Order: sequence, then structure tokens, then C-alpha cells
Amino acid sequence: MTKVLKFGGASIQDVGSIKNVVSIIQSFKNQKLVVVFSAIANVTNMLEKVVYEFVKQDSNPLVTLNQIKELHHNILIDLFEKEHIIFDTVNNLFLEIEWVLEEEYNNEYSYNYDQIVSVGELLSTNILSAYLELNDFSNNLLDARDVFKTDNQYQSAKINWELTDKCIKEKIKDFPVVTQGFIGCTSENFTTTLGREGSDFTAAVLANILNAEKVIIWKDVEGVLNADPRFFSETQLIKQLSFTDAIELAYYGAKVIHPKTIQPLKEKKIPLHVRSFKDVNKSGTIINSEINNNKKPSYIVKENQVLISISDLDLSFIIEEHLSYIFMLLSKFNITINLMQNSAVSFSICVDNHNHKIPLLIEELSKKFSVYYNMDLNLYTIRYYDDESISKVISDKKIFLEQKSRNTVQFITS
Ligand code: ASP
Ligand code: MG
Repeated sequence: MTKVLKFGGASIQDVGSIKNVVSIIQSFKNQKLVVVFSAIANVTNMLEKVVYEFVKQDSNPLVTLNQIKELHHNILIDLFEKEHIIFDTVNNLFLEIEWVLEEEYNNEYSYNYDQIVSVGELLSTNILSAYLELNDFSNNLLDARDVFKTDNQYQSAKINWELTDKCIKEKIKDFPVVTQGFIGCTSENFTTTLGREGSDFTAAVLANILNAEKVIIWKDVEGVLNADPRFFSETQLIKQLSFTDAIELAYYGAKVIHPKTIQPLKEKKIPLHVRSFKDVNKSGTIINSEINNNKKPSYIVKENQVLISISDLDLSFIIEEHLSYIFMLLSKFNITINLMQNSAVSFSICVDNHNHKIPLLIEELSKKFSVYYNMDLNLYTIRYYDDESISKVISDKKIFLEQKSRNTVQFITS
């Protein structure tokens, strides 16, 4: 039965880590394997910077692009002989970005974003596929855009399941397969992306359609932890999680799994195994359909949040009509609410600080309402909270907003 392996950027950041990944993949030799890669570490962020500089036109995007080229080139010269065809392949991929940058900016931010940022995954998969070949691991490099058919909602494209199902079944016959996470293609053949960190979702969709035996996501942590080690000194590995708890944790911002990932796996009861690429002997976390009796607190932090409070200009009640207008704007800018709260005179939302969309949203809202906002906040979520876990989180912080339900408590703090 098919296994889907997914490697994120942190696992492929330099020659040493790439060799490690290759040896992990080789340990699955002779199995029906689909290997999904995201871009090399930090490349997506750097490509985002290129897009931003291109759009803003206040600095030269080619400077950043050259840094990305150099990063890839340094890896290539260590992995391949000078004559290897991969050098041409990589150059041609960079040319595609240069062509976009040569055009006048057409005001279609998200479209340009997808054409440029998707190249990160094309680069990494071409390099990894070639290097696997060089190490006697022959494989079929599949362009994910040939099978992941999406709508044209650039930057967060939704896949067309029916078409994608058909294409995957048609095109994936010979294993092992190497392919890109995160990217897809519209019916007009334009490249799309599925949303930041979308490669996990790609792996889950492939597993669902291929009826895979399991998905293994390889991370730089031991597995799913009960807290983010960047914020909490003591963390514990969660050995087993139910699909539902995994969805909840991911939804509140647990970085290990992308929120959309679990649903396609849950549907077909395909276990998701989260393992460490740094220590392959560790058993990691298994997410499967079994009920989870472990109700210990889990802590999740979302950084870089904006709290926007919207009230009527004359401080009258926020009525339904206003709410529907606000939601219409959020949907127009494709902004997800992380938390919302209503009071007599105002409606507050907490959202990720997306440097392009949020100023536009605030500008639009300000035409009709009085709008206050605070930037640089953190959203803390404790799932299965108790008194002790709450005091651990809020003891030294200023609280802007608090919300409690039976299993979950959330705080917006500075
Ligand atoms: N490379 C993309 C990102 O960093 C997709 C992914 O890593 O899953 O967002
Ligand atoms: Mg990544």
C-alpha cells in the first residue's frame, strides 16, 4: 500500500540535511512511495519578499532574488558535478521569476505572488529528485500542477476534488513519485498556491485519493508537543491524538500541522504519523481515529496578531446589517478571523497581521465605522485548560481580550 512522506523546508536546508532526507527516503526502498517536498528552508519567505518589493517598487527585487539564487547554487555545487543538467533546470526556473519581474506590475498581487512563490517548490523538488537519482533511487518527478486542479483564488486556491481525483488516478501509476506540496493549477493553466504551509495538505489529499496506508510528516521536533518550545520551557510529547483533537490544535495555530490537513485523512481513516527527521529512532506522534483520553492542557501561541475593534460612528448598537457588511469585507480580502467578540457598542476581531491585506481592510472599514486597532499582539489558546495552566500563561501579561468555552480558553495579550 502507498505511503506518503512529506518533508518541509527545515528538513532540506543545506547539503547535510538533504543527505539525511535522502537516507530516510532510501530506507523506504521498494515500497509504493509518494514524496512531497516544500521549498528549501526560508525560500518561501524570501520569495515573498521578492513579490513585496516588486509590488511596492521601493526597492529592487533582484537583490533578494540573487540571494535566493546563491542559496540554491551553493547547495547544487556541493551535490552535483558541474556538467549536471540540474544547473540548467534551476536557471530556467529562476528565469520564470525574472520574466514576471520584467513586466509592469498589473495590480494583481495574489496572482503575481503565486507565479513567483510557487517556484520555491519547483526548485526543491527538481533538486531532490535529481539527487535521489544520483543515489540510485530512481523516481518519477510529477509536476503537482498536472494533478492539483484548483479555482483561481490565488494565494489560497481551493482544489477541485473531482478533477484532482481523476488526474491523480490517471497520472500516478509508477512509484516512487516525487512532487511539490503547496502548488496547483487553474483550468486556464495558471499556477496557484494553497496557502502558507500548504504542503501538509497536499500530502493529505494525495493520501486520500490514493487510499494510502499512512502519511508521515517529518519535522524538526519529536512530534506533536503540548506547547510551542519557543514560548514554553517545559514541553511534552503527545504520543497519540484523535483526528478531532488534531483539527482543534491545528485550527488554534499549533504549528506542527496545517489545519486543512486532517480532514482528508479523517475521512478515510488514514493515520498521520509526525516524526523527527533529526532522530529517526524516536516514535513521534500518531494521529488516528481512536478516541483520545489524554486531556492534559495544550498551549498554542499565534504571534503577530491584530485586534481590530469596530463600532458605529455614533456609538449605537452594532446591528446585524453591520456584521454582515464586515463579514463581506473579510471575505472579499480573504481574511480569516482567529477570534471574535461582540459587545453592546463594538465588534472585535483578531486576525493575522497580513502586511498587504490588513491596511486595506482597515481603510475600507474606516469609511463606515470608527475603527481602533492594536498590532503586535499574541493570541494564546489553552485546550483542556485548568487554573494552573491559565496562570502559567497570563501571569505577566497585559490581557486585551479573553474568551472561554468548555474545553478552550483564549487570551489576546501584548
Ligand atoms: N513552502 C511553503 C511555505 O513555506 C509551503 C509549505 O512549506 O508547506 O509556506
Ligand atoms: Mg515551508
